[in-house]
Parts: sequence; C-alpha cells; structure tokens
Amino acid sequence: MGNIQPIEYHYGFIPNQGGRECSVFDNLILVGDSAGQSNPLVLEGIRHAIEFGRLAGEVGANSIEKNCSKESLIQYEKIWKKKLSSKIESSLRVQSRWLKFSDDDWDNELDIIREMSVDELLDFVKGDFSASKMVKLALNHPKIAAKQLFNLVLKR
Ligand SMILES: Cc1cc2nc3c(=O)[nH]c(=O)nc-3n(C[C@H](O)[C@H](O)[C@H](O)COP(=O)(O)OP(=O)(O)OC[C@H]3O[C@@H](n4cnc5c(N)ncnc54)[C@H](O)[C@@H]3O)c2cc1C
Repeated sequence: MGNIQPIEYHYGFIPNQGGRECSVFDNLILVGDSAGQSNPLVLEGIRHAIEFGRLAGEVGANSIEKNCSKESLIQYEKIWKKKLSSKIESSLRVQSRWLKFSDDDWDNELDIIREMSVDELLDFVKGDFSASKMVKLALNHPKIAAKQLFNLVLKR
C-alpha cells in the first residue's frame, strides 16, 4: 500500500458503565452517550443515538401538553431500556471477562471466536443476544469453553 502517513487522529471518551439509572428528568431527556446507550463491547453508539433520539423527539413532542414533566417523559426510558438494557448488561459481562484476560486466556477465546461465522461474530459484538440466537450459537459451538462464554451472556 506504499508509504502511508496518518493525516488526522480521532479520539474521545465514551461512557462505558452501562445504561444510566435515570435518563429522564423534568424538561430533560438524555440520549446516546449521555444515557449510556453505547455498546460496551465495541463502543458503537451512533445507531442507538439516532434511534433513541427519534424516540426522544416523539415522546418529548407528545408530552408538551403535560409541561414535559418527568412522569410524561418516562415512556421514553421504558421503551429504550426494554430494547437495549439486557443487551448492554450482557455485553458488560463479556467485557468484564475480557478485561481480566491474560494472553493465554485471549488465545483460548480467539479459538472460540475463530469458529464463529461472520454473521455470528457480528451479532455477538453488536450485543445482539436474543435467546434464540444464543441457543443456535450454543448448538453450533458445543465446546465447553464456548458454552461458558454463551452462558455468561444469557445470565440474568
Ligand atoms: C474515536 C471514536 C470512534 C468511534 N467510532 C464509532 C463507530 O465507528 N461507530 C459507532 O457507532 N460509534 C462510534 N463511536 C461512538 C459514537 O461516536 C458515540 O456513541 C455517538 O457519537 C454518541 O452520540 P451522542 O449524540 O450521544 O454524543 P456526541 O456525538 O458526543 O454529541 C454530543 C455533542 O454535544 C456537544 N456538547 C457537549 N457539551 C456541550 C455543551 N455544554 N453545550 C453544547 N453542546 C455540547 C458536543 O460538542 C457534541 O457535538 C466512536 C467514538 C469515538 C470517541
């Protein structure tokens, strides 16, 4: 690829402690990173900020007649948490497993990851852990180490 030089650097902080306990207040809705909606495994947050930004706009507009009170905005929090909370929590469990890894642990984990199909891996890193997908993963990858990883994701 020839002589490649960096032309600019991109960096920044992403809140990475899971969803905020409370994301609505009187006259205020938190969306995206401020609500802790980014995926802890790969720290992608753009699609959640867009999806739940739209939702915040809809719920906010509908609550104008109620002075945008916290109670009138709570529907926003209920909807995004129902869609995302369990995925974020599962991703956080995998993340905390990965953060403790030694090089040898990583070699073993990569053996599991290497056996996943591209679609399985994408679902996994996106935190798309529906029960049916996890059952399929467990069936496709019966090794004990793989099962431990998938059980960790499913733990409630
Ligand atoms: C280096 C890096 C790479 C990333 N790569 C990806 C990726 O590939 N895919 C992906 O999905 N996500 C990625 N992310 C995460 C993604 O950028 C964020 O999750 C997403 O931008 C969150 O959107 P947001 O609107 O919540 O916050 P932001 O995009 O951070 O927007 C917040 C805005 O508020 C402004 N602001 C802050 N304080 C004030 C203030 N007091 N008054 C007025 N304005 C204020 C800021 O200037 C900013 O423009 C990356 C993040 C980083 C740092």
